[in-house]
Amino acid sequence: MIYLKSPSEIAIIKRNGAILKSCFEAISKMIEVGVKKKEIDEVVEDVIAKNKARPAFKGFHGYPAATRISVNDEVVHGIPNGRVLEEGNICGIDIGVYKDGYYADAARTFAVGGISEQTHKLLDVARTALEKGIEKARIGNRLGDISHAVESYVKRNGFSVVKTLVGHGIGQQMHEEPQVPNFGPPAQGPELEEGLVLAIEPMVNVGKSDVYTLQDGWTVVTVDHSYSAHFEDTVAITKDGPQILTR
Ligand code: MG
Repeated sequence: MIYLKSPSEIAIIKRNGAILKSCFEAISKMIEVGVKKKEIDEVVEDVIAKNKARPAFKGFHGYPAATRISVNDEVVHGIPNGRVLEEGNICGIDIGVYKDGYYADAARTFAVGGISEQTHKLLDVARTALEKGIEKARIGNRLGDISHAVESYVKRNGFSVVKTLVGHGIGQQMHEEPQVPNFGPPAQGPELEEGLVLAIEPMVNVGKSDVYTLQDGWTVVTVDHSYSAHFEDTVAITKDGPQILTR
């Protein structure tokens, strides 16, 4: 069942998206060589609490923290722990908030200190792949147009997309229908309608697309241990085109 949202519901999600924006601003001020993953998590949890919202991931299927922090070959769902960030690392940070009955979800990947040319390109391609997907989030297009735009851009640039994890509808539930794959043919799947709200979230690997989950039951890493980047925004489909609710 796909739930379409009214403009007033979208406005609530946008307010929650503004909290995520504040979280990422706080992160960009403190993330540097020597910082621990869990210190980032504490800063984010504090921003969320000050905004009287709830960290959506904490307790979700037993997850222990407000953020998911995934370093280098970690794709998503990395647990904030005592790991110290080092020069040349990349750090994907995924945050969800819940307030006034609705969720918002976003992720950014940050560079720690100086990074290699290839890693620079990875961040650029993953960030732009999200833009390519958002650009297709328009009334009358089909879901596959988003998926195809993401995958074809990534492939063109010599990288791969993760296929076992996907984006999703979002609203009163964090994960609603439809699933939003980062791959597949265009012009297929459900037609995009006004009021559909989607979390679009390409996960892009330098090497092969295959991933596996570590023994902690959460952290997803690339099989070939190549670096992986993740960008995500919550986007509403409106009469005026895609409206990004998390920037
Ligand atoms: Mg998500």
